[in-house]
Amino acid sequence: MLLGYKYKLAPTRHQFNRFCNWLNMGRCLINYSLNDMEATYHVRFAQGEFCSLKTKAASCPLTCPINSNSATSDTGEVYQTSNKGEVSRKSAKSIQITNLPVLKETRPWYSDMDSTALQNVIERLHDAFSRFYKGEAKYPKYKNRSNFKSLTFKSGIKVDGNRIKLGKLGWMRFHNSRPVPEGFKIKSATVRLKADGLYVSLKIEDKSIPAFPVIAPEEVKTAIGLDMGITKLVHYSDGSQINNPKFSTNKKTRRQLRIRQRRINRKKKGSKNRRKAGNKVARLHQKITNKREALQWKIAVKTVKKVDAIFLEDLNISGMKSRCKPKQDDNNKGRFLANGQSRKKGLNRSISDASWYSLLKKIEYMAAKHGKIFHKVNPRYSSQTCPECGHVHKDNRDKEKFICTNCGYFAHADLNAANVLKQRGVDKLGLTLSCRVKIKKVVLGVSQKPEQLRLFEMPIPESTGVRRRSAPRSKRKVPGNSEQALVAVQLSLFGDNLANTSLC
Ligand SMILES: [Zn+2]
Repeated sequence: MLLGYKYKLAPTRHQFNRFCNWLNMGRCLINYSLNDMEATYHVRFAQGEFCSLKTKAASCPLTCPINSNSATSDTGEVYQTSNKGEVSRKSAKSIQITNLPVLKETRPWYSDMDSTALQNVIERLHDAFSRFYKGEAKYPKYKNRSNFKSLTFKSGIKVDGNRIKLGKLGWMRFHNSRPVPEGFKIKSATVRLKADGLYVSLKIEDKSIPAFPVIAPEEVKTAIGLDMGITKLVHYSDGSQINNPKFSTNKKTRRQLRIRQRRINRKKKGSKNRRKAGNKVARLHQKITNKREALQWKIAVKTVKKVDAIFLEDLNISGMKSRCKPKQDDNNKGRFLANGQSRKKGLNRSISDASWYSLLKKIEYMAAKHGKIFHKVNPRYSSQTCPECGHVHKDNRDKEKFICTNCGYFAHADLNAANVLKQRGVDKLGLTLSCRVKIKKVVLGVSQKPEQLRLFEMPIPESTGVRRRSAPRSKRKVPGNSEQALVAVQLSLFGDNLANTSLC
């Protein structure tokens, strides 16, 4: 079993500065190596080495089987001999790793850096390249101070009580918030620079424990569907919902961010005070992220412990956040009409704030850890499909309400979508559930409010002898017969036309 544990480090000032220096050196090395690969490619391309030798057609740079493995060798060793005596060209990765001793001779300050951390910088670049070749990621980027913030140590890691040894960085204190379980060995340690200091994440492994057994489909008794939203963060197919606290888009935080951001702009560029003001904004962002992560872990644990199988929608989040297409004025070419982008901007911020993807990843991780089934379902038309008769139509949904135009089934639109997702997942995997939870018919605004999943059950405080203020008086009752009033409220929810025609 392979796990990741995170801790906050408490380095000395000397250790902190040394690590920051190493970060700068690592960043220079990764940029140099990337540039080297590109330059070598261009040289070889100019010499007339084409990708397809038969057709002599030039193809996409760097995906070419000949040219993708090119790097300048400082030692002159470009070929390697295998155990069987076959001579082959070295990969760019191994060429660049064998360059490191030469680098240390010409630039002696690199010998101060931990050698495993230095090697890992090169490995990181080539991992990025291999992901690019597979089509999983974009072309590797040049790094700057804001996106190169961590180094990975592969050896010389020891933990003793509240002290940790990280290669050449030496022993330092850390907040041992949860001890490494017995039997687990430390594989590597990644030290990351954040706004409020250094953090280490340990990769620990115990080979005697089997990795994440997954429950057999026959044993699945309960399943749940999840629909993510913005007004409520998560809608469960059993009818419960989780509020969206809007950590970075609520009024208070937005104001705080605006003020602190303005303080930066008013400071002289390049000054120490400007940097300090920048740090304050970074810390606030960090605080927001910490709060969000904490909630997401809680949701993930609660969800996974509740059921055997979890079905989620496979969202295309970057597609949802895309900009609106520009609208050109037909009468006056060169002018553009309003396309609603400024309205979309607010929605995009809310989507970013909800961070569905990171929540989804956490649920996936927890499900794997507990051996539960986690499956992504195609969300197409999930909010327009009737679970009773299967009727799909755009008119079925009216904002928060779902009313089937075919059979009259009604429910909360998002809860209904969660239910549809669950049914799709169950059908796809061929599960037979012994207890199938059916969604409750919920109409917002009437006495039947959807249940809130009680995440934070507070213990009832013991009597302290202090008299608490009495609860506020209940609101004025609706005059007349209570049953009649309820029906009236319920009908008005469906709009006047519908109430008059079908329900009265
Ligand atoms: Zn229907």
